[in-house]
Amino acid sequence: MLITFFCYYKLIMINLRKDFPYLDINSDSNSLIYLDNAATTQKPFCVIKAISDYYSSQNASVNRGIYKLAENSTELYQRSREIIANFLCAKFDEIIFTSGTTQGVNFVAQSWAKHNLRPGDEIIISQFEHHSNILPWIRLSQELGIVIRYIPINKNNFDLDYKSYLKLLCSKTKLVSITSCSNAIGTNVDLEFIIKHAKDYNAKVLIDAAQSVGHMKFDLNNLNVDFLVFSAHKILGPTGIGILYISEKIHHEVRAYELGGGAVLDVDNFNFTLLKSPECYEPGTAKVAQAIGFSQAINYLNNINFDDLIVHESTLCTYFIEEIQKLKGIKIIGFKEQLKNEGHIVSFVSDLFHPHDIAAYLDKFNIAVRAGTHCAQPLFKNINIAGTLRVSFYLYNTFQEIEFVISKLKDLIKL
Ligand code: PMP
Repeated sequence: MLITFFCYYKLIMINLRKDFPYLDINSDSNSLIYLDNAATTQKPFCVIKAISDYYSSQNASVNRGIYKLAENSTELYQRSREIIANFLCAKFDEIIFTSGTTQGVNFVAQSWAKHNLRPGDEIIISQFEHHSNILPWIRLSQELGIVIRYIPINKNNFDLDYKSYLKLLCSKTKLVSITSCSNAIGTNVDLEFIIKHAKDYNAKVLIDAAQSVGHMKFDLNNLNVDFLVFSAHKILGPTGIGILYISEKIHHEVRAYELGGGAVLDVDNFNFTLLKSPECYEPGTAKVAQAIGFSQAINYLNNINFDDLIVHESTLCTYFIEEIQKLKGIKIIGFKEQLKNEGHIVSFVSDLFHPHDIAAYLDKFNIAVRAGTHCAQPLFKNINIAGTLRVSFYLYNTFQEIEFVISKLKDLIKL
């Protein structure tokens, strides 16, 4: 296994760390081991520079001014959208800039579901969901009488219970809103299966791809989803910006809930006519610097071979899982076999130590991991676990880092 690891490691990831100032600065003996990538990622120099350059010499409000600076800024902004659309195999006008995954889900709840669903209609979500893909639906169920159904998880292997999903689907199902990967325990969802069966019932599909875009390739031209959301900051881009993909096929059903400047063609005292997508969904002054930084992150990812990246992340997962399982009282919470093939998040508990205590202990060695319920309280209540320690990898993590973390865990658990 080690030989395989070093072969691909040499090939793809070896020179990458120098692109990340934060990791480079920390490359002395006190180096930071950053393993909280499911929360947010570090940024490459090209992203930081693009944002800094924009504010230094290109800053202007887009879509309105007719002076050169504003026109250039508009071009950069719309070019960023084009780069992101190409990355996702989507069309330009299907890509809406949001503030992130959370705003994307709320947008679908308020701008599509609220106008198209009736009391008694059903929305299927899963027991894996992040709060961002639960709360907007609870609010809607309280306000409109829409019914939420949960796909349960199989507590033996922590996979979704796909048979139960089939039983939940019915003529009342109007939306299936589901994560592509549990941010809390790393289990991936079989999207093809979910989408195919949702479409048998003519239900719309929203994918929360916050944990998958940037880890695997998406082809939205062929995925047959209606909405997809994610955040730039989890894939090397800046905070404050994300994507809401709205399939062209469904634009006529969407009624933007936020309105204001930049979204309208014509306004009089009591009426207005909106522009077409994407402008009609992006009122207010645009997030230009963020969009430019975001598209630089995408340019960076365009140079990464995603097949190699999947091998890289899952090899780190496999090694980590195999080693910590040798320690006394450790239990992996997540679909182990799948994590070894295509995982980037490992969640675990210890019989001997609380997750917060392990996280605080690792922090003494400059190791950043996450402990708790990871904004997925219903999941943890369902599996009856108070929380986990979550270690999440990305393209710049190395085998040596994981070895160091394991050695520190060994020291702790032997104490
Ligand atoms: N969904 C999932 C699966 C996530 O992992 C996260 C971030 N932890 C979110 C939604 C929310 O993302 P954001 O805070 O960037 O809006």
